[in-house]
Amino acid sequence: MDFELSQEQKAFFKEVKEFAEKEIAPFTEEYDRNSEFFWDGWKKMGAMGLLGLPFPEEYGGSDAGALDTAIAMDAFAAGGGDAGVSLSWGAHTIIGAVPIWVMGTEEQKKKYLPGICSGEKVSCFGLTEPDAGSDAASIKTTAVRDGDEYVINGSKMFITNGPICDLCIVMAVTDKEKGGAGISAFIVDRDTPGFEVSRELDKMGNRTSPTAELAFNDCRVPAENLLGGEGEGFYGVGKATLEWERAIMVAPAVGGMECNINRCIEYAKERKQFGRPIGKFQAVAFKIAEMKCLLDAARLLVYRVAWMKDQGIPAMMEACVCKLFVTESAFKVANEAVQIFGGYGYIREYPVERTLRDAKLGTIGAGTSEIQKMIISRLLMGKF
Ligand SMILES: Cc1cc2nc3c(=O)[nH]c(=O)nc-3n(C[C@H](O)[C@H](O)[C@H](O)COP(=O)(O)OP(=O)(O)OC[C@H]3O[C@@H](n4cnc5c(N)ncnc54)[C@H](O)[C@@H]3O)c2cc1C
Repeated sequence: MDFELSQEQKAFFKEVKEFAEKEIAPFTEEYDRNSEFFWDGWKKMGAMGLLGLPFPEEYGGSDAGALDTAIAMDAFAAGGGDAGVSLSWGAHTIIGAVPIWVMGTEEQKKKYLPGICSGEKVSCFGLTEPDAGSDAASIKTTAVRDGDEYVINGSKMFITNGPICDLCIVMAVTDKEKGGAGISAFIVDRDTPGFEVSRELDKMGNRTSPTAELAFNDCRVPAENLLGGEGEGFYGVGKATLEWERAIMVAPAVGGMECNINRCIEYAKERKQFGRPIGKFQAVAFKIAEMKCLLDAARLLVYRVAWMKDQGIPAMMEACVCKLFVTESAFKVANEAVQIFGGYGYIREYPVERTLRDAKLGTIGAGTSEIQKMIISRLLMGKF
């Protein structure tokens, strides 16, 4: 068993971390305050090949594999790369494009992936609805075949990149008798008549990543935009993206923990109370030690699933364990970071308050912590 990254992977981590330190981190506070998407950074990420990492070179990607994609996302956040940008990146490259890569026809891949890889076209993924979140198979959006088209009606809630997207992978019911097996996936272009961003949502954290409610009113999509076969939306896309979403997409939470721990170490050595640096108090020093344990365990869990993915080994259980542990740990680390910074931790001048607001989303999006526990326990105990 080899836990060591290769020299190339270490160099890649360093390169991406330095990119984030220089090109993203200095602008994060301002963009977070204004709740604004960081287009300049996005374009640079596209030019650097980050937005198309996993995809084959013939479609404009970098052929990087799951582990190298996880390394890049981890490194980006370790360099202070903003969590909102990472969220938009994950929604675009992972849930917004991996299904096209895995399930798409040659024409669909040629049409959509190059623009996604360069960042010229922004993708998003629409499953959640106002009345269907954790119980995702209960969505009500419908797609009815009419000649060479499908007519989509319904709405999607909390869609990351919704306000700025050029295309959206939309999940819709094509056969309501079949439950999850009656749900199909469609690639819907933003300029399709009937596709509307009904409202942009104002969020607590990840404020640089735009989120929207989307509406589809008699939205006519060519039949060739069906992704996979009819009925392959829910389970097909789930199969294609599950490990990506629950492990690779949470890799930025790992780098974010590292960044926060470094901030705490620096602060604990500098800040003096009772005539001593606060890091000399065991209560503070032990918090930092515990944060480091969470970081190391979280990183190993992410890299384990990424490695399994690259070996073609199914990792459903490992991905759920990873999602649960990493996101809960990132939230704990951010919370302790605020505590270590004391009153200053609560003030916007210091970045730790933002990391606490950002980290909360990890325990909610892409299946809440409760849902991960439900799946893990069911996998362990089976039916009894
Ligand atoms: C900022 C943001 C970005 C998002 N981006 C996207 C996106 O790009 N695309 C997309 O499709 N969705 C997206 N989502 C939606 C996200 O995946 C859902 O919010 C999430 O799955 C939870 O669904 P819900 O909000 O409807 O909560 P609910 O399902 O209503 O859950 C509410 C509470 O009940 C608990 N609960 C529900 N069912 C059970 C159960 N069986 N057992 C125990 N507890 C249960 C939950 O854990 C939670 O604590 C995003 C959400 C947010 C906030």
